[in-house]
Amino acid sequence: MNDKVKLKKHYDVIVVGTGAAGCFFALSCPQELSVLMITKDKMENSDSYLAQGGICVLQTPDDFECYYEDTMRAGHYENRPESVRVMIQDSPEIMKQIIDYGVSFDKNENGEYDYTREGAHTINRILHHTDETGKEITQTLIDRVRERKNITVLEYENMIDWLVRDNVCYGVVTETMDDVSARRTFTAGSVVLATGGIGGLFKHTTNFHHVSGDSFALALKYNVELENIHYIQIHPTTLYSKKVGRRFLISESVRGEGAILLNEAGKRFVDELLPRDVVADAIRREMIKSGTDHVYITMPNMTSEECEKRFPNIYKACREEGYDLCKDRVPVTPAQHYLMGGIRASICGETSMANLYAIGETACNGVHGANRLASNSLLESLVFAKHTAELIAEKKKEKSDAKRYTGTRLANTVDLSLYPPRDVRRKEKKKLIMDEIRRKDKEFYDKWCNYEG
Ligand SMILES: Cc1cc2nc3c(=O)[nH]c(=O)nc-3n(C[C@H](O)[C@H](O)[C@H](O)COP(=O)(O)OP(=O)(O)OC[C@H]3O[C@@H](n4cnc5c(N)ncnc54)[C@H](O)[C@@H]3O)c2cc1C
Repeated sequence: MNDKVKLKKHYDVIVVGTGAAGCFFALSCPQELSVLMITKDKMENSDSYLAQGGICVLQTPDDFECYYEDTMRAGHYENRPESVRVMIQDSPEIMKQIIDYGVSFDKNENGEYDYTREGAHTINRILHHTDETGKEITQTLIDRVRERKNITVLEYENMIDWLVRDNVCYGVVTETMDDVSARRTFTAGSVVLATGGIGGLFKHTTNFHHVSGDSFALALKYNVELENIHYIQIHPTTLYSKKVGRRFLISESVRGEGAILLNEAGKRFVDELLPRDVVADAIRREMIKSGTDHVYITMPNMTSEECEKRFPNIYKACREEGYDLCKDRVPVTPAQHYLMGGIRASICGETSMANLYAIGETACNGVHGANRLASNSLLESLVFAKHTAELIAEKKKEKSDAKRYTGTRLANTVDLSLYPPRDVRRKEKKKLIMDEIRRKDKEFYDKWCNYEG
């Protein structure tokens, strides 16, 4: 499909990544800005698409302090308070906007939104679309993006470098993801990184394999400030399977609605609604104690029919592995799931490099602190993408001809043949990021990354 895409050499904005953050950012840009979106894979293949549980929203002003406290407590009070406030304050408006774009959330028999709950939330404040909330939101945003004349989408295009001079970013170097691996450059007034997290670097992960921390490797190369790159969330319950590849997530909302965890002896060993890090550690201890690589989850409080209606996707995935979630003990194991840290960014996505912005999971804007509260990440991706678009639109009013001239000169001097082949780059990138994680937190590295080599 890229054959039909008409490309220019220069854009007002380049967005790298087509998940919820990248798409919502592009839609939030004024339509007089030319926007190029690139993604390593097909547009739908982002972690945003996989989100199951839902998206948090402030239902009524009365809940503000409680929602704030739940987020701070989950984050071990290492969150940036201002970022948390902005996220919660903006959430009703953001929800209204995506509903206007066409997103639908489940309602109860009275026609009211069916708010659900996940670990560490005091009340039910999560909107969902069955158990495929990410697909509903992301596909709707993708559909709206495709309608916009000012947005060009380039799929299977991998950002492999930035065009940088004197700590200013002027564009990107890319490589096609086919056998040819053709390389080219694009210049832009602003480059927005929405490349997601680092799951692709881990053996056990719920993430897409191609979401593999590319922006962080470049940040390390160019000394762009990172923050808490070792704050990595391990999801306690992913479907255990002998098959290789992405681990299927058994969402927290399953535990929120009554599922329990059992050890090898069939006994409960943890309060299932404690924060993820606490539950994941408890599971790891059980696995070490019993010499196994999994524990079990089961949902005794629902019938199979009820479960299939409420969690169709999860129920089906368990069935495919031969288990009925309501009748059987389903083996589960922890896996890498989410990165709370990332490229240090302001509320408007600014990084320590001029013209370079970070949003979504790539950014560390301080919302999550040391640990993410469930269902805050889709919301965070949307809220700060919008603030970033507003800032870039404001800045665009400044004259940018000089920027464009420097960018073009820089692009013309890059020797594209000097980049190592993909396999070599992949190994170098993994080593760079894993070494940084080990340097920041050896204990975490030894617990969860030591098999990474
Ligand atoms: C299984 C699962 C379930 C989840 N459930 C929930 C939930 O219920 N609620 C919630 O709030 N959050 C949930 N999350 C987390 C949430 O989905 C993500 O944190 C969030 O959507 C991140 O969005 P993003 O746009 O920042 O990145 P992503 O959606 O990961 O998108 C990254 C994009 O960057 C592209 N990309 C990466 N590297 C490059 C490169 N070098 N060049 C070009 N393109 C590149 C990818 O192709 C992709 O398009 C879940 C995550 C997973 C994996």
